[in-house]
Amino acid sequence: MSVLVFIEADNGVIKKSSLEAVTYGSKLGDVTAVAMGSIDGSELQKVGKFGAAKVLHCSDERLNDGVIAATATLIAAAAAEVSAATIVMSRSSLVDAVAARVAIKTNSAVVANVQDLPDTSNGFTVKRGVFTGKAFAYVSVPDGNKVITIAKNVVQLEETGTDAAVEEFSVSFGDADFGVKRVGVHKQEGDILLPEADKVVSAGRGLKGPENWQMIEDLAGTLGAATACSKPVSDMDWRPHHEHVGQTGIKVAPQLYIAVGISGAIQHLAGVNSSKVIVAINKDPEAPFFKAADYGVVGDAFEVVPKLIEAIKNS
Ligand code: FAD
Repeated sequence: MSVLVFIEADNGVIKKSSLEAVTYGSKLGDVTAVAMGSIDGSELQKVGKFGAAKVLHCSDERLNDGVIAATATLIAAAAAEVSAATIVMSRSSLVDAVAARVAIKTNSAVVANVQDLPDTSNGFTVKRGVFTGKAFAYVSVPDGNKVITIAKNVVQLEETGTDAAVEEFSVSFGDADFGVKRVGVHKQEGDILLPEADKVVSAGRGLKGPENWQMIEDLAGTLGAATACSKPVSDMDWRPHHEHVGQTGIKVAPQLYIAVGISGAIQHLAGVNSSKVIVAINKDPEAPFFKAADYGVVGDAFEVVPKLIEAIKNS
């Protein structure tokens, strides 16, 4: 079976989540990847290690901005090129916006936020996260074309192959494909981008006030992590709003999420439950976060965090 995987890059570097999508696709069939914008050939070749034999690369620089309509047109054209009945993409803000458009263009069923490999013993049944990750639904997809968007961290990266062949892929876009243009980008200098961060150190109201954040920044600096916070913390202007994680904030999916002095309300967990490993530090042994955490430390953050920093530095 021919499978098309859409891969995204950040500053010319392919996202880890896209490599996960390639690994996922390789479990379903023969993978061709499609990529767009300014990415070096050597960077594109590396998707071969994760199971893609070939990469179709549309180097049109207008696609650097992640234009939604044009991206959907590109993916649909690539699927037609390789006769792919299954299209796999890792969730991102761009993928969430293009998936339904690609499904319409390719006459596909679409299943979003898939959490596991499909059960193909009787058709094609996938598990997807619903109610902001509080529950799962099992969805049976009819025979025929499918667009699947997968959550981050649902598959382990597997290096099985060698470099992929990279081919330039041209698409004749229409005017409507570039009807909406990005006119500016404001980026925080020097920050690790929270949605893409591999490690996150997050803190809540248990920290008592903004003057106590130095130890959170020190822990994050020691680990090479991004910093985040709960909603009340950003509402009170203790931390900037772009650090607010949860149902109404940023959704993160790091390998490691350390929550310090955060109770673990359902609305906060909605933004962090795709994390691979969750560590909660809280002085209240009944704090709900401990139910969601892989590891818990019951203790005063002001004692635990400095000791943790010291232990990491000495390790
Ligand atoms: P608190 O609930 O006050 O918890 C502080 C925690 O710190 C406690 O568990 C306490 O035991 C612990 N603590 C205190 N002192 C120490 C210490 N010295 N050492 C260690 N631990 C200590 N919240 C979000 O975060 N993100 C969202 O996106 C979000 N969206 C929402 C949307 C809606 C519609 C609503 C109604 C609420 C939303 N909330 C959201 C708010 C959410 O319900 C909680 O109120 C909030 O997450 C609590 O933040 P917190 O855990 O920092 O504070």
